[in-house]
Amino acid sequence: MKNQADVIVAKRAGFCPGVKGAIEKVLELEAAGKKPVYTIGPLIHNKQVTDMLAAKQISAINTPDEATDKSGVLVIRAHGITPQFQTQVQASGMEVVDATCPLVKHAQNIIEKFAREGYHTVIVGDGDHAEVIGLMGYTHGQGVVVSGPEEAAKLPYFDKVNVVSQTTQKESVFYATAEEVKKHAAVCQISNTICQPTKDRQKETIEQAQHADLVIVVGGKHSANTTRLALLCKGLAPAVQHVETETELEEDLVKKATRIFITAGASTPDWVIDRVAARVREMHAVGIKGESNDD
Ligand code: SF4
Repeated sequence: MKNQADVIVAKRAGFCPGVKGAIEKVLELEAAGKKPVYTIGPLIHNKQVTDMLAAKQISAINTPDEATDKSGVLVIRAHGITPQFQTQVQASGMEVVDATCPLVKHAQNIIEKFAREGYHTVIVGDGDHAEVIGLMGYTHGQGVVVSGPEEAAKLPYFDKVNVVSQTTQKESVFYATAEEVKKHAAVCQISNTICQPTKDRQKETIEQAQHADLVIVVGGKHSANTTRLALLCKGLAPAVQHVETETELEEDLVKKATRIFITAGASTPDWVIDRVAARVREMHAVGIKGESNDD
C-alpha cells in the first residue's frame, strides 16, 4: 500500500511579475511578426523556456554586434543593463524594447539618486549576476559588491554609503550585511531593494518549509534565485531536493515523506511545476491537500 502524504504547492511558486512581463513582451513581438527577436543575455535561466523560445526564433546574444539580422528587435531582459551598455544598445540602430523589471528599475533609481549625492554604494548580492552588473553601472564608479557580512567586514571606511540589495537576496543576509557596513561609515543609508515578490516567496517558504519533511524546489540549476531558495529551505527542512523536471525526483525520498512542500524559483514555468506536483501525487496516489496554486 502507498503512503499517504500532504502535498502542498506554494501559492507563490513560479514566474515573478518581472519575468512574466519580459516573456509576454517577447512573445507579443514574435506574434506581431517582428522576427528575429534577440534578447541581450538569456531571458530566463530555465532550459524548458529557452527551448520553447528558440523554436520561435527568439534567441539570446551578448551584444548587438552578434545580431546576424539587423532588422530584428533587441530586447533588454528583466535584469536590466548598465546605462553605458544601454547607450551602446541604442546606438546599434536596431529596434530596442526595454523589458527591465520595474522593480529592478526602482533599485537602479535608488542607487543613482544617492550616487549623485556623493554616496558610495554597497550592493549585497552576487557580483557575477546580470542584475548586479547592471546595478553597478548606476553607482557612478563608486560601487562595491559583497556577498554577506564576512565580505562587508573587509570594507574600507566611507564618509557616506548607501547599502542596497540584489532584488532576490535573502532578507536576513541583507540586514546582517547592512549592520556590518554601518561600522564602516559615518553616514549609512540602508535601502532594502529586495522586491516584494521575493519577500512574499521567502515568507511563504519559511512558513511552509519548517513544517515539511521534504521540500522540492523546482527550477533551473543555473538560476540564482532558485538555488538561493533551495539553500533557504535546507536550513528549514530535514530533506530538500532541487530538481529541474519531474524526471529528477528521488522516488525513495518522496515515498518516505509525509508532508511535502513544493516550491519554485521566479524563472520556473507553471507547466514544469505542475508536472513535478503530478508526479509526486502519482507516487503517493493522493490529491493536493491544503494550499495549492491550482486555485
Ligand atoms: S525577482 Fe523581483 S525584481 Fe527580479 S524580475 Fe522578478 S519581480 Fe522583478
